[in-house]
Amino acid sequence: MLVFAKIKSVQQKIKSLKKGTSIGFVPTMGALHEGHLSLIKQAKKENDIVVVSIFVNPTQFNKQEDLINYPKTIDVDLSLLKSVFCDIVFTPTAQEIYRNNITSKSFNFDGLEHQMEGKFRDGHFDGVGTIVKRLFEIVTPHKAYFGEKDFQQLQIIKKMVVKNQIPVKIIGCEIFREKDGLAMSSRNSRLTKEHRKVAPLIYKILQKVKTEFGTKNALDILDLVENEFKNQPLLELEYFEIANEDTLQPIKNIEPKQKYRAFIAVFAGKIRLIDNISL
Ligand code: AMP
Repeated sequence: MLVFAKIKSVQQKIKSLKKGTSIGFVPTMGALHEGHLSLIKQAKKENDIVVVSIFVNPTQFNKQEDLINYPKTIDVDLSLLKSVFCDIVFTPTAQEIYRNNITSKSFNFDGLEHQMEGKFRDGHFDGVGTIVKRLFEIVTPHKAYFGEKDFQQLQIIKKMVVKNQIPVKIIGCEIFREKDGLAMSSRNSRLTKEHRKVAPLIYKILQKVKTEFGTKNALDILDLVENEFKNQPLLELEYFEIANEDTLQPIKNIEPKQKYRAFIAVFAGKIRLIDNISL
């Protein structure tokens, strides 16, 4: 496994690959867990080589505190990556990526960016668009893998590659969960014992929503969700929404042939957790 911190070095290596070598790419912010590894394993199956980036991207954080406290476990990350036979790891610094200008470019994702996460994390998707576009230019992957855990991000990246005609196939991968249902996340390691214990309720509620969808209307389902959280003071609901999978617009009526998904963001103490489920 080769590890590069410099853009030039990773580009040189990629350019030196035999013509026709397919490259799978998994961008991450490190603090790797089984969820990340599931993306890498899939990339490994579908490509000749796999590149993983580890970069905690400053421009996608709207809270400085969150950026500073983001878990960093580079030594463990590298041994996990070796264990799944990752070929190339790219670990740039912020200086290497942004030089002296740590700012986002402005993107238009046809409204996808204004829904859900976009309402609560100002500038987040401009930050995501900026870094992913830059990484695609550096790594030039044939396929890139993103988790459905961040479903809105996945849809936004798909939109970005179409609008910018970037020649990469975006692959969405299923959410990987703990045994108790909690969606794996680097942030889970920052939960207190008490919060960790109650956090699986998020997925339990989503499963309940899935059962009720189609029999109850969207407002009644929202009521049901809000009541569940009122009964659990350790978890604070930020938003719950049922939206069309493609447009991410909130549901009005169930239309035939359309796919819907329920999305949720919850604070467990200071830690913000997101999850979603297809309906
Ligand atoms: P992150 O390091 O949090 O930026 O995540 C890197 C990639 O891994 C993103 O495409 C995430 O959606 C994906 N990912 C994170 N957690 C999970 C999970 N539990 N299941 C599937 N994919 C995940």
